[in-house]
Amino acid sequence: MKITVIGTGYVGLVSGVCFSELGNDVTCVDHIEKKIEMLRNGEVPIYEPGLKELIQKNTEAGRLVFTTDLTEPIQKAEMVILAVGTPSLPNGEANLSYIMAAAKEVAQAINKNNMVIVTKSTVPVGTNEKINNLIMEHTNFTFSIASVPEFLREGSAIKDTLHPDRIIIGTESEIAKRKLTELHRPLTDQIIITDVRSAEMIKYASNAFLATKISFINEIANICEKVGADVTKVAEGMGYDRRIGSSFLKAGIGYGGSCFPKDTQALIQIAGHVDYDFKLLKSVVEVNNDQRFNIIRKLESILGNLQGKTIAIWGLSFKPETDDVRDSPAFDIIHSLLDRHAKVRAYDPIAVKNFRSQLNRNEVHYCSSAEEAALQADALCVLTEWNEFSEIPLLEIQEWLKRPILIDGRNIYTEEELLDTELMYYSVGRPNMN
Ligand code: NAD
Repeated sequence: MKITVIGTGYVGLVSGVCFSELGNDVTCVDHIEKKIEMLRNGEVPIYEPGLKELIQKNTEAGRLVFTTDLTEPIQKAEMVILAVGTPSLPNGEANLSYIMAAAKEVAQAINKNNMVIVTKSTVPVGTNEKINNLIMEHTNFTFSIASVPEFLREGSAIKDTLHPDRIIIGTESEIAKRKLTELHRPLTDQIIITDVRSAEMIKYASNAFLATKISFINEIANICEKVGADVTKVAEGMGYDRRIGSSFLKAGIGYGGSCFPKDTQALIQIAGHVDYDFKLLKSVVEVNNDQRFNIIRKLESILGNLQGKTIAIWGLSFKPETDDVRDSPAFDIIHSLLDRHAKVRAYDPIAVKNFRSQLNRNEVHYCSSAEEAALQADALCVLTEWNEFSEIPLLEIQEWLKRPILIDGRNIYTEEELLDTELMYYSVGRPNMN
């Protein structure tokens, strides 16, 4: 199948590459020339394990090309996939300007009937109807619209794309149903066909539910700290119940990233527009926004005033195996530390460049190794569960620190590992290990 993907971010690039891996002819389009230049030179503008190799393989096979001009690829394609960003507006609503602009460009380039136009970006219910109307205003050719929301996770995006739990195809068009089923059939048998609005809602409902699980277990962790229970045992015990499931029950400093924060806010807005007060989801967001500050509260309860104290930070990305720092809890935590006049020494295996460019504060000292950040610090805070951190022996960490204080925001160390150390160790919802 000849496919054009608009947007080469985490979703568009990974999807395009994976569709080419399945044997399709894929053109990936982005309006950022530097990105396309890099991709043409075999460099990957984002960090995603395994992506570089797949790009190289499929480019060499002639199935994958990159360009900034969408006209020719649209005219050659039978399917266009819109995978541009839908970030939050200041009021929490999804900013649809990128997707509408991309849809208009597609409409102006179409030169034949029966094009299938697929929205992969996460968009509020009703957006595909707007896209449909916009395209109709700009072309006389026939086309069909489908919503195929994306569920990949950064850090395991290729695996998630090639082995999805399910594919949702929301469309009223028979041509789109047939072509999209044909495209996704090699990936899974679990293909669910719905109307467009339900497909749009499935994406928001899924992310809101996962965010709810995270805030739920974080509140349980906070209670565990007060009643002397261990949240990891509680989560394990809950997770064996198949009605609950064990995923997304890891207590920590809360979720971040480019999806959960913006999609929960957008769903609250979507509900608000139809006069529905989504109280549960509002609480999920509130709990999440507060959870990260437990790090600061714990530091202050141990060290008192943080002014002049050196705090080492391990982990800046919102989760491991990605360089994405969008809405990472590390921003709020580091801002709070700097506002309290603490000295911050930060390290991340991959995300320092992105973080530094978005923090807008020059007081942070960025380090090139975990050891450099921890050396002579008054306390060390682990904010992201990179394997690199859990592999460092705790005795070594103890040696590096000026005061043996370790605040583990992701519960990456075990009770056994702590045994031979003299660390003052504080994790999330495991008071027995303090
Ligand atoms: P991103 O910001 O990483 O990438 C978007 C890309 O689109 C950018 O490279 C941008 O330059 C390009 N772009 C914007 N307008 C364009 C245009 N008119 N023509 C060509 N290129 C254009 O975004 P992302 O993280 O890949 O997310 C894309 C969508 O997928 C969002 O709606 C997001 O909510 C959704 N989503 C993201 C993830 C994720 O983990 N990142 C997972 C599931 C769904």
